[in-house]
Amino acid sequence: MNDYIIRAMAGGGSIRAFAATTRELVQQARQTHHTSPVASAALGRMLTAAAMMGSMLKGDKDLVTLQIRGLGPLKGIVVSSDSKARVKGYVFQPNVEIPSKYPGKLDVSGAIGEGYMSVIKDIGLKEPYAGRIQLVSGEIAEDLTYYYAQSEQIPSAIGLGVLVDRDTSIKQAGGFIIQLMPDAPESMIAALEEKLQTVPYITNLLEDGKSPEDILELLLGDFELKILDKIPTEFYCNCTKERVEKALISIRKEELEKLIHEDKKADLHCHFCSKEYHFTEMELKELLKNAK
Ligand SMILES: [Zn+2]
Repeated sequence: MNDYIIRAMAGGGSIRAFAATTRELVQQARQTHHTSPVASAALGRMLTAAAMMGSMLKGDKDLVTLQIRGLGPLKGIVVSSDSKARVKGYVFQPNVEIPSKYPGKLDVSGAIGEGYMSVIKDIGLKEPYAGRIQLVSGEIAEDLTYYYAQSEQIPSAIGLGVLVDRDTSIKQAGGFIIQLMPDAPESMIAALEEKLQTVPYITNLLEDGKSPEDILELLLGDFELKILDKIPTEFYCNCTKERVEKALISIRKEELEKLIHEDKKADLHCHFCSKEYHFTEMELKELLKNAK
């Protein structure tokens, strides 16, 4: 597995930073969901962001989920990561094709359209933390930057990119998140802003053979960069037949009885990984005994 995230700090602890290479997991998502190039790019950017945000979580069972709902033809995206940066996700309309506005650049914002982004963090509290913003560009990185500023009051610089090859496979994917801690001095903020103006697209850096370590060095090399951790990341779904059973038991008893009498079976499908689960009439009857 070649996908990983580098966690780092800089500026004596005033800056925290993440950079990731995610080509394989985006490729896996593309193969799982048969996404068109623009859908692969949108889903890949979201998965890359979620992987880095997952690696920020502290508890073993913590989860972060990012959702976009938009008026564009893609309609929506849902991705989620656990604290081990294992991500899963899907788009509502995987086969969207729209013309590019600029040559060589997939029109992700056109596919998403106007809408909103939600971030839900389940960190073991009674209620999960949830924040929601109106999309500012639909390019995802800008939207997430705006989310951090608005909902968490964390000034951030975020880059996310997916390069789709001519044969629609994933050529490059990756991203970075740089965040300022409240104690960051003004002079450092100004110097960092100036530095970030000069940064090329993340996909160009990856195409040039730059690793996440190189990218952080390029961005933060002048700010006493300290690499802290290298975290593997992958496309992974934790669905099991038992989990699907629980979902079946939790539907209304009448619904379950209807499935038994009319369909005599149930076929369910996991949105995140496209896995199919089949239940026979016998199995459903057994489940009905446990239903409320
Ligand atoms: Zn699944």
